[in-house]
Amino acid sequence: MMRDLPQPSAQALVPFVSVAEMMATLHRIGLESALVDLTARIEAEFRRWPLFDKTPRVAAHSPIGVIELMPTSDGSRYAFKYVNGHPGNTRAGLQTVTAFGVLAEVATGYPLLISEMTLLTALRTAATSALATRALARPDARVLALIGNGAQAEFQALALRAVCGIDQVRLYDTDPGATRKCARNLRAAGLQAIACDSAEAAIQGADVITTCTADKRNATVLHDNMVGAGVHINAIGGDCPGKTELAPALLSRATTFVEYEPQTRVEGEIQQVAPGYPVTELWQVLTGEAAGRTASGQITLFDGVGFAIEDFAALGWLYDQLDPGTARLDVIADPDDPRDLYGMVMRAR
Ligand code: NAD
Repeated sequence: MMRDLPQPSAQALVPFVSVAEMMATLHRIGLESALVDLTARIEAEFRRWPLFDKTPRVAAHSPIGVIELMPTSDGSRYAFKYVNGHPGNTRAGLQTVTAFGVLAEVATGYPLLISEMTLLTALRTAATSALATRALARPDARVLALIGNGAQAEFQALALRAVCGIDQVRLYDTDPGATRKCARNLRAAGLQAIACDSAEAAIQGADVITTCTADKRNATVLHDNMVGAGVHINAIGGDCPGKTELAPALLSRATTFVEYEPQTRVEGEIQQVAPGYPVTELWQVLTGEAAGRTASGQITLFDGVGFAIEDFAALGWLYDQLDPGTARLDVIADPDDPRDLYGMVMRAR
């Protein structure tokens, strides 16, 4: 009878962070505190960059979207994320991006944590934009233009307020309903949010531009002649082959920073330019190995596609936040005799 079965050992019961628990964690810590913490955690992991196993993510493409696996390890811990990107999903009431992931111990291969990562991805993507903006934008930047006002948008704006001191956000989305939603949410969070009726209007006077649109094509959200001197751009919505946001001519005026060059060459804005186009990996700026912004009139571009080390950092941060009440999943078989897996099944008859 089932009630006589031995219980799995504590090591075999894996902490599980559901969407509900993630939301409770964010309310306990405070969203902006979490974004500040995550920015610091991602920066710390980027500073250890050479230690990590790195590979471009494994992508399964279809005409309407992509499913990706994103693994990395620092030799002590291993993490992977499953994530999708389906820009048409919102028309069916589904999200464009959903994700979940695992943090594991290299020594045993046992998982330490299984977590929802749809929210965690929004947080770590916003924290990564904030990290890039703090490193590359003019220090006096206060006005953000946010183009694409969907699921990622508010997190992007709040991370830039918390980490970089942005106090005004100018919004544009091809769907005015998305802009209204975003303006309402940001005003409730105490930000000055201005709804604009074109991308050109949104970027007027902006020091930082973040593009986070979802459209599976080579879109031109920003034309070359729209962007003035001294601006920093976070282009995060172009993250797949054939899915970009910037006019190629704009790249020739910008100094471009990426996460992991081999992945970004395939997925980022720079897929549109020659393979010799120069880029700098952001970690090199953070460690002082490479220059960031060198002149106030320079256009700096963070061509962000999302890299596994950001998810590794986010899962590690989340693991540190777990409390004793976190749910645990019976997901790892745990026979009394590790070699008697069969016997465990038979005893459960
Ligand atoms: P979403 O579908 O919730 O929102 C996207 C918004 O973009 C929609 O409101 C849509 O109307 C708008 N839009 C589409 N084309 C536009 C255009 N030309 N101009 C202005 N607005 C336009 O998607 P999301 O979850 O907010 O994700 C946004 C993008 O960011 C997606 O492309 C996603 O793949 C990408 N993303 C990147 C990372 C990363 O690490 N770089 C992480 C998460 C998501």
